Amino acid sequence: MLPPIQDKRFQDLPPQGFQFACHPGVACFNQCCRKLELWLTPYDVLRLRRRLGLSSEEFIERFTEVQAGQNGWPMPRLLMRADDPERICPFLGDQGCTVYEDRPGACRTYPLGRATKGGRDGGPSEEGFFLVREEHCQGFAAGPLWQPQDWIKDQGLETYNAVNDQFLPIITRQAPDPNPQVIASKMRMFFMACYHLEAFRQFVGQTRFSQLFVVPPLRLELAATNDLELLRLGFDWLRFAIFGDATMVLREGAAQKT
Ligand code: SF4
Ligand code: SF4
Repeated sequence: MLPPIQDKRFQDLPPQGFQFACHPGVACFNQCCRKLELWLTPYDVLRLRRRLGLSSEEFIERFTEVQAGQNGWPMPRLLMRADDPERICPFLGDQGCTVYEDRPGACRTYPLGRATKGGRDGGPSEEGFFLVREEHCQGFAAGPLWQPQDWIKDQGLETYNAVNDQFLPIITRQAPDPNPQVIASKMRMFFMACYHLEAFRQFVGQTRFSQLFVVPPLRLELAATNDLELLRLGFDWLRFAIFGDATMVLREGAAQKT
């Protein structure tokens, strides 16, 4: 079973779906783009920094604060504007979101909540939906009726959900080794493969990576130029190297270390 929902803002999804419309005409327009605790997933960062023409490092440095997130893994949190009394999102402009096509998954999903469970060796084995009703949000007052899959499609969430589902088998587990030095090195591996793709690309291309692992040449070729393919390779590598999952295959005789 999916975990029970305990926050009173979280409500059951009515069988007929939910009525919702958010547009510049609602009185609360942009009110939700402030004072946010917005943790960014690796795919959020990939999309945003590409949109802004920044390297991963520049983006993380300029727009985020890296803190211990879920299970202690280092994750970037979007910094709200310190020079604004309302602490608005740095991407909020007069006409709304200035990075709309590449806005984070959390901004796309609201007011639909998605819970997943299991599925370490593929997609989630269970998926459930609920509603998140913020008091100030007037989007529920009018608009079409949405079923979860229609909302996901409308908000361009398919790739976000698919990539985040591949991230979950890592982020939902604790680094298992009790040795602080080993844990620190695992944290660095995690951050490089998830949030510093330029460095990970160099690691894959210039180390013994392809001598150690059996990786189809096409996959390596794609990862050399395509950030999403590289990120997916990174997730597989992290699962193998940190948790011993069978997500990578060592070449015969290769040393048992990465
Ligand atoms: S509070 Fe709700 S309706 Fe208002 S802008 Fe945000 S999501 Fe849209
Ligand atoms: S990224 Fe865009 S949608 Fe998300 S909080 Fe910032 S301005 Fe709002």
